Amino acid sequence: MRFTFLLLLFLSTQSYAQDNLLLHQLEVLAADSMMGRGYGANDKAQAYIVQQFEDIGISPAFDGEYKQPFEYKDKAGNNIAGIIEGKLKDIIVITAHFDHLGEKDSKIYNGADDNASGTVALFQIASHFLENQPKHTMVIAAVDAEEVGSGGAEYLLNNFPLSVDDIVLNVNLDMIAHNDNRELYACGTYFYPQLKSPLENIKSDIELKFGHDAPSYKGADNWTYASDHRVFHRKEIPFVYFGVEDHNDYHKPSDTFDNINQKFYIKAVDLIVDAIDKLDNTEDLK
Ligand SMILES: [Zn+2]
Repeated sequence: MRFTFLLLLFLSTQSYAQDNLLLHQLEVLAADSMMGRGYGANDKAQAYIVQQFEDIGISPAFDGEYKQPFEYKDKAGNNIAGIIEGKLKDIIVITAHFDHLGEKDSKIYNGADDNASGTVALFQIASHFLENQPKHTMVIAAVDAEEVGSGGAEYLLNNFPLSVDDIVLNVNLDMIAHNDNRELYACGTYFYPQLKSPLENIKSDIELKFGHDAPSYKGADNWTYASDHRVFHRKEIPFVYFGVEDHNDYHKPSDTFDNINQKFYIKAVDLIVDAIDKLDNTEDLK
């Protein structure tokens, strides 16, 4: 009895520490000192992400380097990625863009939800799969230049550190920390129905919904090409995109750490880790 109590106390203390770290990292990456992480002016955010990957102990993806420099639209950017070797050579690429809108009219666009939230989730995903070796090899990439046209994701795919033909799935995270109805979407199963059943019935206090991909979703309500997963989809690589509905702070200076839903974010990251675990254990993803 006492042992069980101590074990539960230990486990809850451990997850409490993990949740606190997650929120702390989000607060840092969305702080004013990061100046909105605008493409071409986000060196400080890059350094922070590299430091987290180093601390976690994930192997660098590019010949001993975490950074993959590129040029796009007359500016210099960097993707930042690590690799976790699985039992298979088939690859799952997990992406989240870390760039945001920078500063405009002397206002900082902090981009806490868009997309410090997805970027910080990568750290927890990396930690999880370093402790629990995945079946698939995982490339975990914080990509640059999404807000100006997915230049980073496109460069990553065209200059991939392993064989592109071995990629069986892209999991893209973009805006996962802000929803008042406790709803998170998994978009993409309309095109890749084999991905749906692993994502059904995941235990969580928040709701995982499907949609925003079929042709019946019109205009901005159709997310098929809304973020970096579009680069993979265009090459017929299956994708799942996790994200929330647009909100009042979307692409505004008010997308700050104070305006996210902290509990929702913690639950969303837990759910996404479980989802990737289930996908990793699925045969024939492609
Ligand atoms: Zn975004």
